[in-house]
Formats: sequence, C-alpha cells, structure tokens
Amino acid sequence: MTLLEVRDLTKHFPITKWGRNVGAVRAVDGVSFTVPRGRTVGLVGESGSGKSTTARLVLRLLRPTSGGLRFDGTDLIAKGPRELKPLRRRMQIVFQDPFAALNPRMRIVDAVGEPLEVHGLATGRRKRNRVGELLEHVGLPPGDMDKYPHQFSGGQAQRIGIARALATGPDLIVCDEAVSAVDVSVQAQVLNLLKRLQRELGLAYLFIAHDLNVVRYVSDEICVMYLGEIVERGEAETVFSAPAHPYTEALLAAVPSPDPAKARSHARVIAPGDPPSPRRPPPGCRFHTRCPHAFDRCRTERPVLQEVSPGHHAACHLRDPLGGSPRGREEAS
Ligand code: ADP
Ligand code: MG
Repeated sequence: MTLLEVRDLTKHFPITKWGRNVGAVRAVDGVSFTVPRGRTVGLVGESGSGKSTTARLVLRLLRPTSGGLRFDGTDLIAKGPRELKPLRRRMQIVFQDPFAALNPRMRIVDAVGEPLEVHGLATGRRKRNRVGELLEHVGLPPGDMDKYPHQFSGGQAQRIGIARALATGPDLIVCDEAVSAVDVSVQAQVLNLLKRLQRELGLAYLFIAHDLNVVRYVSDEICVMYLGEIVERGEAETVFSAPAHPYTEALLAAVPSPDPAKARSHARVIAPGDPPSPRRPPPGCRFHTRCPHAFDRCRTERPVLQEVSPGHHAACHLRDPLGGSPRGREEAS
C-alpha cells in the first residue's frame, strides 16, 4: 500500500539581482515516485542533483513550486502549518551529521525526548521511560540518556539521531545521507540497525545517498536523480543488474570496488566533466553533455520516463523503441 506519493514535484529557487528576478535554480524538476508502507526507496545521485531538496519538500519543510504530495492518502500541499503538525509526527528525518543535529548543551534525554514534548506525547518521568526504551531500541544503554553529545562516537550519535526520529512513532523516516559521515567500519552496523527497525516497526524509508553501494544495501526500489530529474527508477536489483540509463551506468562504473574505503570517496569521477549548473540545465536530455551515447535528438528533445521492462523506467532516447538512433543503440548494447 502506498504511504507517500510524490507527483511531478518541482522546486525552483529564484535567483535575484538588485531585487529583481533574474532566473531560477531548478533544484527539483518534475519528480514522481511512491514509497510503499514498510519499504525502502533509495534516492541516489551526485551532489547537487536535488536529493536534499526533494527530502525537504516531502517533509514540507519547503514549499514546492508545483506538484502533488500525498501522505497516507492526505494531500500535504493543501495543508497549513497547524494541519501539518499531526502529520509531522508520522514523518521524521535523520541527517548526515549527527552532531550538528544535536544541541551540545542538551542531555540526550532532552534531545531524544524533545519531539515527545513538542507533540504532547510525554513529559517528566514518562518521557524518561520512553527515552530509555528508545535508546535500547537503537542498541544503546538507557543510562546514556543523562550524558551529553560529546561523550559519544559518531556511530553512537547517529543511533541517538535515529532514536530521536523514532520518538513519535513515525511511519516514514527520510534518511538524508544518514551514514555518509560515519566511519566505514560503523556504516554497516547503522544500516543493519535501520533494517532491523524496519522489520520490527514496519517503517518506510526514503533513503538518500550519493553512494550507490549504500543505497543498494538497503533499498527495495531505487530512483536515480540527475540535475533535478529522475532518470531511472526500478527494483533495486534490476537497476543494478541491468541499468537502463547511461548515467546509472556511469554511477555503477564509478563504484570502484567492494572496498568501502574507496567506495566512500567523494572525489570519484562519475562521467567526463562536471555536472552542469541547475541554473542553466542543458536543453533536451540533461545528461547529453556528458553522455557517451548522445545523438542529435538528445540535444533538443527532453526524454520522458518510459517503461523498459515491467516496473523499470528510464528517461533515455536510446530506450525509445521508435526514436533511438541505430548507432546509439548499437553502442548501448
Ligand atoms: P543534493 O542533496 O543532491 O546534493 P540539493 O538538493 O542540496 O542537492 O541541491 C540541489 C541544487 O539546489 C544545488 O544546485 C543547490 O545549490 C541548490 N539549492 C539548494 N537549496 C537552495 C536554496 N535554498 N536556494 C538556492 N539554491 C538552492
Ligand atoms: Mg544533500
């Protein structure tokens, strides 16, 4: 059953000069996907592709320029702050830097218990009890609640961030690069914790990362983003075993080895050249400036997502049975 439905979501940040509108950063440009209850959808793409903006739109921390957003059947776009509050309980986020998300002067009991107070769920003794349970849930001793953030390692702090996200009993947790900052040796532990919590609590995740290995490990389905658009979407194993978009192929080729120390490097070369600016995305296919298979049509006509096999979609003219260039198709096969 669908928990989150994102339809044609768009966010353009205006660029102003001398108080006048001179353009827009097209951070998210017509993105559609769904997150089923209890499942994990991965969102992967290079830095700047619009993943965090998508996360903030989904949580309604940002107002979309246009598009539709439904959570458990409720239209989120139409809701004002007061109507959103009860829904916020059910959607939480875990950020990349666990220490930045924790107030250094706040004890863990207050940090993890804060959402309980904000939503009027527990205070005092009951809050302490609930925080103790939450810490146990994420593999920390309940006694840790009286400590301060600096007394924890990065991995432990991320567990605290997860406990805080769990406090209100959410149905959906958005993990925005949630393990990108923790030590490689700890990454798998945190990912396994997220998987266990999903099984135990029936959580759905929108799992965002630039690292394809990490996304693959946790996701049922994967959306690949490039310059504000989803260029490929499908079951995780299908996308990995039979990528249908040249950008996904480039991402896969850039995952150097199972050695996580290398896979984590941010400096990997994904495709020739840097991604163009979302202020002036290339016409036609946004990837054509870096695509080894680009032909004339790619430079002028924007490809739309098309089903290439059941449940597997790609936005690439090479995959279009009517319009792919024969040369391009040869090269792609
Ligand atoms: P990602 O998380 O994939 O790295 P982001 O969603 O953070 O990408 O950013 C997408 C694009 O939108 C980037 O070019 C970024 O500079 C731009 N952007 C993000 N937030 C803002 C903002 N508040 N104002 C203007 N541009 C923004
Ligand atoms: Mg980001």
